[in-house]
Amino acid sequence: MAVSSSFPPLLKIGVFPEAVEARLRTTFELVEPHELGETPQRRAQIQGIVTRSNYRIPEDLLEQLPNLRIICTNGVGHDGIPLSYARNRGIVVTNTPSVLDKAVAELTVGLVLATLRQIPQADQFVRTGAWQVGAFPLGLTLAGKKVGMVGLGRIGKEIAARLLPFDVDIAYFGRQRQAVDWPYFDDLVALAAHADILIVCCPGGPSTYRIINAAVLDALGPAGILVNIARGSVVNHADLLNALTNKTILGAALDVFDEEPLPDNPLRRLDNVIVTPHIGSATHETRMAMAELAIKNLRSFFETGRAVTPVAE
Ligand code: NAP
Repeated sequence: MAVSSSFPPLLKIGVFPEAVEARLRTTFELVEPHELGETPQRRAQIQGIVTRSNYRIPEDLLEQLPNLRIICTNGVGHDGIPLSYARNRGIVVTNTPSVLDKAVAELTVGLVLATLRQIPQADQFVRTGAWQVGAFPLGLTLAGKKVGMVGLGRIGKEIAARLLPFDVDIAYFGRQRQAVDWPYFDDLVALAAHADILIVCCPGGPSTYRIINAAVLDALGPAGILVNIARGSVVNHADLLNALTNKTILGAALDVFDEEPLPDNPLRRLDNVIVTPHIGSATHETRMAMAELAIKNLRSFFETGRAVTPVAE
C-alpha cells in the first residue's frame, strides 16, 4: 500500500521480513527495482535506497539514479556497497551498528556449543533411531578452551563477554592492540596456533579477503574449530573444504558464505560442519530495532541533512 509521505520515495533493494517492510512503509513509499521502469522521471524521484547488508548494490544501478543522496542499509556490514563511488558522488551511506550485537553474539555462542556438543547431529541421532543401536559419540567441553577472536569490535566484544562465564581464555587479532586485558596477536597464524576455537567477526571487504586460508587452518590444527559469523569473503572456502575433508581441523560452524543462499555445495554434506542461513541478527526484536534505526537515519537525513549513524570509510 502506498503511503502519502513527506519524504521522497525510496528504492528498496532486497527482501525484508514482512513486519520490517510494513514498518518501513508506515513512513516511506517503497519502490521495487522493477517499478523503476524505463521512465527517467521515476528514476529521478529516487533520492534514497533502503537495503539489507547481504545484498550487493552495483554501481551501474546507482548510475541510473541521478538524484540519489543516501543509501541506508539495515545491517552493519557495508561490503556490498561501493563506498568510494558513493563518496565521489556525495552519496551518504548509513548502517545500523550496535543494535544487532547481542543477537549476533547469542547465535555465535550457540554455534560454538552446537559444534562442541554436536547438537544438530545428536538431534538427528535420536530422530533416525540410531540411538536404538548405539551410543552417541562424546563431545567436547567448552570450559578451559582458548578462544581466538578475529576482530574484536562491537560484536566481538559481546561474544567474548558471553563466552567468559564458560571459563574460557580469550585472545584476539586485529590491526591494532586494544585497551583490554586479553592477549593481542598481530599475526593471525600465531593466533590460530594458540587457539582451540577461532571466531571470525571482522568486517568483509578487500582488507580481510580470504585471510582465513590454508596456513591459518593448518595452525588451528586437528583439534581446532572455526566459527565464521563475519562474511564468506573472509574465508578461503576451498582451503576450508580441504581442512574439513582431511580432518586437519576438527570442525566448523558457518553463518555466512560467498554465495547466499548457499547453493549445492560439498559443505552441505560434511558432518563436521554446521551451516546456518545468515541468521546472526535474525530475531524479531533485533530486526525491528534495525528498522527503527534505519528509519531514524533516513528521517534525520531528509529533515536535517545529517544521518544518525553514517558509515565512515
Ligand atoms: P566493528 O565494531 O567495526 O568491529 C570490527 C573489528 O574487526 C574491529 O575490532 C577491527 O579492529 C577488526 N578489523 C577491521 N578490519 C580488519 C582487518 N583488515 N584485519 C583484521 N581485523 C580487522 O564491526 P562489528 O559491528 O563488530 O561487525 C563486524 C562484522 O560482523 C560486520 O562487518 C559484518 O560483516 C559481520 N556481521 C555479521 C552478521 C551475521 O548475521 N552473521 C550480523 C552483523 C554483522 P581493528 O580496527 O583494530 O583492526
